[in-house]
Amino acid sequence: MENKKLREKSRRAFIKSTGMLAAGALIAPSVLSAAGRAVAKTPAVVGGAPVRTKAWPTWPIWNKETDEKLVVDDLRSGVWSRASLVTQFEQEWASYVGTKRCLSVVNGTNALIASLLQMGIGGGDEVIVPPYTFIATVAAVLATGAMPVFVDTDVSTWQIDASKIEAKITSKTRAIIPVHILGLPADMVTIMAIAKKHDLVVIEDACQAHGAEIGGRRVGSFGHAGCFSFQNSKNLAIGEGGAINSDDEKFMDKCYSYHNYGNPYGSVVGQVSAGTLIPGTKLRLTEYQAAIGLGQLKRLAVETDKRNVNAAYLRSRISKIPGVIPYHLYDNVTKAAFHLFPFRYDKSGFKGLPRATFIKAMEAEGIPCSEGYSPLNKMPYLQQAFESKNYRKMYTAAELDINTFNERNVCPLNDKLCNEEAIWFYQSMLLADKPDMDDIVNAIEKIHANADRLNKKI
Ligand SMILES: *Cc1c(COP(=O)(O)O)cnc(C)c1O
Repeated sequence: MENKKLREKSRRAFIKSTGMLAAGALIAPSVLSAAGRAVAKTPAVVGGAPVRTKAWPTWPIWNKETDEKLVVDDLRSGVWSRASLVTQFEQEWASYVGTKRCLSVVNGTNALIASLLQMGIGGGDEVIVPPYTFIATVAAVLATGAMPVFVDTDVSTWQIDASKIEAKITSKTRAIIPVHILGLPADMVTIMAIAKKHDLVVIEDACQAHGAEIGGRRVGSFGHAGCFSFQNSKNLAIGEGGAINSDDEKFMDKCYSYHNYGNPYGSVVGQVSAGTLIPGTKLRLTEYQAAIGLGQLKRLAVETDKRNVNAAYLRSRISKIPGVIPYHLYDNVTKAAFHLFPFRYDKSGFKGLPRATFIKAMEAEGIPCSEGYSPLNKMPYLQQAFESKNYRKMYTAAELDINTFNERNVCPLNDKLCNEEAIWFYQSMLLADKPDMDDIVNAIEKIHANADRLNKKI
């Protein structure tokens, strides 16, 4: 319906423009967009004026008035190793996510590794993961010695396709790591039901999903554990940092002990002066990192709401452009984090214009965007892991055969998403204002109107 309307408008605009051409009024063919603006000016990538020259909001945000005092006071105090600010940050983050407990750690990757290990996952176990995620998700599985098993992507929501999980469960499957990738919630209700049925551990990778909600409940509180990242690009930025959230007191005590060399903590107690109790490492956050986090946390809810408002507006406008397929949120999602704003690019709607050319043209118009991830189920690191000494001791040669692995882990829909369709805008762009969202729409419409010409020129 919308597309038909757009085509009709374009047709009328075309007639109008050719009429003007005949009168010698215009050199470039002019087309009107759905909204009726002239968009067929020369694309910036071939020398025209860009849609936008204004800078986008930068990230992270540092507000001198609200953010500086806590950090500077801490630096002056000399209390830099884990103390009261870290504890305060953990309490506030537990309360924000809606879990009984939170443990901060050095980064999201180690939050995942610690969670897997303290859930008892290791060599010989299979862990179900999506192929559409940041490498850290799978790197964490490999760090424990477990075997990642990939389940294809639901390309409409960009999340792990929960309806395909059960087919991948074997007697060795121990855990599922749903990733709320791009900050859009995964189908947690279905995933938790599958986990319950098959007695599996669920560790949510919520490293991109600070403040996202399903049915009014924040992600990271659905699984047995939820893991977050506070790396500089993330929606709550500390530079580096991570967190494990859970209601499971015993598990959290073990994580705490593990992150502090395996020393006694809570229920991790042994004989007096027994020394270190469990094998551990050191993953402690510093006081000044916590001080940064406490400042950023004050803004997170407001920023998340702004991203949601802008994303909904941008989504509604770009949905009308042929060849643009916007993301879909599961029906029970009440809020997304929009660490990224994704849409699928169908080049047939753009006269066959390749995605790479579209991105190049968008960037020339002043709209940064990215083609995003490559398929994680097909990269050389997997074979390298399988050839390692530890893997060769933990698995049979047949289990480590890369061809067999590849056959078992094909994810054709994800391949297409990564290789042909995915386009992202960044979370910081969604902190701009409504007219800035219009710039994005105008740039897409301009490229759409000039697709033929760009196809020939680039
Ligand atoms: C960033 C990220 C991680 C890892 O977090 P770090 O803090 O960078 O170690 C894990 N999973 C996903 C999906 C991420 O985006």
